Amino acid sequence: MIVGIDLGTTNSLVAVWREGAAELVPNALDNLLTPSVVGLDDEGRILVGLAAKERLQTHPHLTAALFKRHMGSAHELQLGHRRFRPEELSSMVLRSLKEDVERRYGEPVTEAVISVPAYFNDAQRKATKIAGELAGLKVERLINEPTAAALAYGLHQRDAASSFLVFDLGGGTFDVSILELFDGVMEVRASAGDNYLGGEDFDDLLVQAFVAAQAGSQDLPPLTEPDIAHRLRREAERVRHALGQSDSATFVLRHGDRQWQQVFTQTQLADLYGPLLARLRTPIETALRDARIRPSELDEVLLVGGTTRMPLIRRMVAGLFGRFPSITLNPDESIALGAAVQAALKARDAALEEVVLTDVCPYTLGIETALNVGESVEVGHYTPIIERNSVVPVSRVKSFRTVHDHQRHVILRVYQGESRWVKENIHLGEMEIDVPMAPAGEIELEVRFTYDNNGLLEAETLVSRTGERRSLVIENNPGVLSPEEIQARLASLAQLKVHPRDQQVNSLLTARLERLYQENLGELRQQLDHMANRFKQVLDSQDDRAIRDLRVQLMRQLDELEQGVWQ
Ligand code: AMP
Repeated sequence: MIVGIDLGTTNSLVAVWREGAAELVPNALDNLLTPSVVGLDDEGRILVGLAAKERLQTHPHLTAALFKRHMGSAHELQLGHRRFRPEELSSMVLRSLKEDVERRYGEPVTEAVISVPAYFNDAQRKATKIAGELAGLKVERLINEPTAAALAYGLHQRDAASSFLVFDLGGGTFDVSILELFDGVMEVRASAGDNYLGGEDFDDLLVQAFVAAQAGSQDLPPLTEPDIAHRLRREAERVRHALGQSDSATFVLRHGDRQWQQVFTQTQLADLYGPLLARLRTPIETALRDARIRPSELDEVLLVGGTTRMPLIRRMVAGLFGRFPSITLNPDESIALGAAVQAALKARDAALEEVVLTDVCPYTLGIETALNVGESVEVGHYTPIIERNSVVPVSRVKSFRTVHDHQRHVILRVYQGESRWVKENIHLGEMEIDVPMAPAGEIELEVRFTYDNNGLLEAETLVSRTGERRSLVIENNPGVLSPEEIQARLASLAQLKVHPRDQQVNSLLTARLERLYQENLGELRQQLDHMANRFKQVLDSQDDRAIRDLRVQLMRQLDELEQGVWQ
């Protein structure tokens, strides 16, 4: 069986093609969205999804999230005593989704079409395929997320040439893509975005507004303490969602026996979010410019990503494009549905051809430089040569001068990263270049960086006075595992025990009780402690019916508590 998977930064989903339509498959908790969060439970077993997400706050050292941001790099995340590569953590999410489908349909899932952002480069795409392989899935095809959304809307069936804009605003990222369909080929004409703009930024602003409104209040708890900061963000998200349904909503912070609250209206929200809405415009304009297309020439505008459920965003998009965007599908579901459409097309040997033009260099590349500070020379500065997100292939040159009198050579140290200081960036390689002796500043060195489609970086130097050239080739692919490494990772992953699927609902409740216990104080805390003890006792009794009854009752009470109904 072949499935379509949306492997998202915050949430992942899986869909299958059944009886002529794409259909999402719920997980063990009966939810369609599985948070892309992986953790270790108290027995050291792998826990994936909502129960792991609940433990992000109570067990931060045993839980990992947002690892999609590191795909294609060698950055490892620590869980307990072990370190994991981003593709290993992604493979655990994929495996969990694969099992959800296998449980439901009683058939083995062997193959998957997985979606990736249009701007993912070669290393990031390879890492995604390897994640599939580590999960026991053959991934013959990746599909660009905006293309998947277009497929879910059936746009590939259009006869005439068409252009679409996909506006994808998720929890932490914003992507705009312009697609063109011509003769059965879907092309990503342009893609632009902001990797640090999403629902969470809207929540941060609301938290700031709440804190500002409470400035004069007495005895406010320490708002920057991680526990309280986390709760404020959760509450902001709840209020933001509620404001999509009603004109006003109350932001509540409880601490001990006290509570602070503030009513927010839709109008206030529109003012508050003005600066973020303005930031959304830049990538849209860039994408339109890069694709050389005017808004009036677009045949459809699609909304993708959970944050586009906000009426404010929908109104803004309608205003910008002078038309209502397509929203007949749930914005957080269309990518997985589209991946399943591609899987079905592939099974029939009719897969949609896709052309990707956009490939970018995902990190800034530069060298170490020294600065004259007064009498002394300060080393360790980072000078970028190729800026991140430059479309590849790209070549850039900068000139530098010697800093010491009569220096005999220059050491060119190449780094990747975004910090001003090389020690916080990644060292990629170095070479020593001889220079003629001369007073400081007299000798000029030209440094050219060329980054190609395969992730190869070539650093070339030219000493102007002597005309001498040197070159250093760096294979900038620390992010891609070799076939031998993949086999080794597969073997070590096979050793890990996985949290039993049928216990997930109970673990979720236990984790939620623990989180709420940490978040609250006083009498409420005692009640939560009592609830947790009761649940533990019933779990120990192994009486399935009693466990289920109490679980349902407690979940309902906790829902009420979190919605502010239960005091
Ligand atoms: P995604 O990355 O597409 O899963 O989107 C996750 C983001 O969608 C989070 O920031 C959520 O707060 C946001 N989101 C989900 N549902 C809603 C809603 N009803 N209203 C506003 N934002 C939502």
